Amino acid sequence: VASVKNPADSHQHPIEIDALIVGAGPVGLFQVFQLGLLEIKAHVVDVLPYAGGQCAELYPHKPIYDIPALSVCTGRELTDKLLAQIAPFGAAFHYGQQLTSFEKQPDGRFLVQTNKGIVFCTKTLFIAAGVGAFLPRTVNLQGLDRFYGQQLIYPNTGTASSVYADKNVVIVGGGDDAVGWAFRCCAGFGDASDASEPKARSVTLVHRRDVLQASPDKLAAVHALCEAKKMRFLAGQLTGFEENNGVLTSLEVCGIDGQESQVPTDALLILQGLSPKLGPIAQWGLDMERKQLRVDTETYSTSEPGIFAVGDINTYPGKKKLIVCGFHECVLAAYGAAAIIFPERKVPLQYTTTSPKLHQLLGVIPAAD
Ligand SMILES: Cc1cc2nc3c(=O)[nH]c(=O)nc-3n(C[C@H](O)[C@H](O)[C@H](O)COP(=O)(O)OP(=O)(O)OC[C@H]3O[C@@H](n4cnc5c(N)ncnc54)[C@H](O)[C@@H]3O)c2cc1C
Repeated sequence: VASVKNPADSHQHPIEIDALIVGAGPVGLFQVFQLGLLEIKAHVVDVLPYAGGQCAELYPHKPIYDIPALSVCTGRELTDKLLAQIAPFGAAFHYGQQLTSFEKQPDGRFLVQTNKGIVFCTKTLFIAAGVGAFLPRTVNLQGLDRFYGQQLIYPNTGTASSVYADKNVVIVGGGDDAVGWAFRCCAGFGDASDASEPKARSVTLVHRRDVLQASPDKLAAVHALCEAKKMRFLAGQLTGFEENNGVLTSLEVCGIDGQESQVPTDALLILQGLSPKLGPIAQWGLDMERKQLRVDTETYSTSEPGIFAVGDINTYPGKKKLIVCGFHECVLAAYGAAAIIFPERKVPLQYTTTSPKLHQLLGVIPAAD
């Protein structure tokens, strides 16, 4: 489920579209399909660098048993199958973007903005935001944020590691990712067996517990590097920092044994995993009930006509947070959107089995000229 950079993301002007989906979880993906059957092309925004939502982030390798006609599939397999199923509809994916604000235009459309500055002008908006945007867990240390983006980094799959060559690197986290980064910084950034590869000047791994949760091979590598004094592992928390002319120079770590250490720091990499945060959607003025968006069950419209909410983010009497329920919601929400996008058109129900029109849209027979 690879991340693909969308060329439209360098766009300076609003991207004018019919439908924007917030969230590339299973329900957001199936919304693309249902819109596609009604000839509505969708754009999809997700803060993660890949599709799948909770399925990809929380349980990619666990089996799911209650997807109709799939007796068992993992979270990742379901995501891959959904991506394959929606491929004919050519949705545009904008990964690594958090949707932050929307503004209703006099013509009824919505001006919607991401934290990376992309602006969409859309006729309909689908909120498939699940339990919230998956954002990196931060370090709770007052004032540290001012180094964000320069010396304080939340690395992801696209982060270049070679920029840390000859730097004092502090890595916070105790999982596979944190340990993997510590290993890369110590062992060089390219071919680990090549002694001439640039390496970090010093590497300190800080985790709040004295047990790391990484695969046995990575743990063995870290242990060997610590023994060889090529890296340090400190079990404790960041409690302070020093700076010089706005440049972070060192971090203070208070160990679980109460011992304090001052660690020279040029780069601070935070790798404590992701946690979902509803974020700005809660401030959009839509009707909510306990952090979920209230919808009507005819079209899954929110309190704002033109804005639909599907999947785990919505609530209504009898709501069950299951993928199959979200899939059903997508069907009715797509019809609700079609009435707004094509007000002059009657949109009949058609079967994918028998409709030549749907076969064309699905690409199973060539499109008529
Ligand atoms: C361990 C576990 C096991 C489960 N097993 C099952 C099961 O067996 N069967 C079943 O039916 N269900 C299961 N579920 C529940 C199921 O995963 C959810 O119902 C489903 O993922 C909801 O899909 P969604 O698309 O609504 O939201 P999500 O999967 O949560 O996806 C929402 C996406 O929206 C993105 N997003 C949110 N806000 C923003 C924003 N402002 N800007 C950009 N992106 C944003 C998030 O990053 C995320 O990728 C399980 C859940 C868990 C945690």
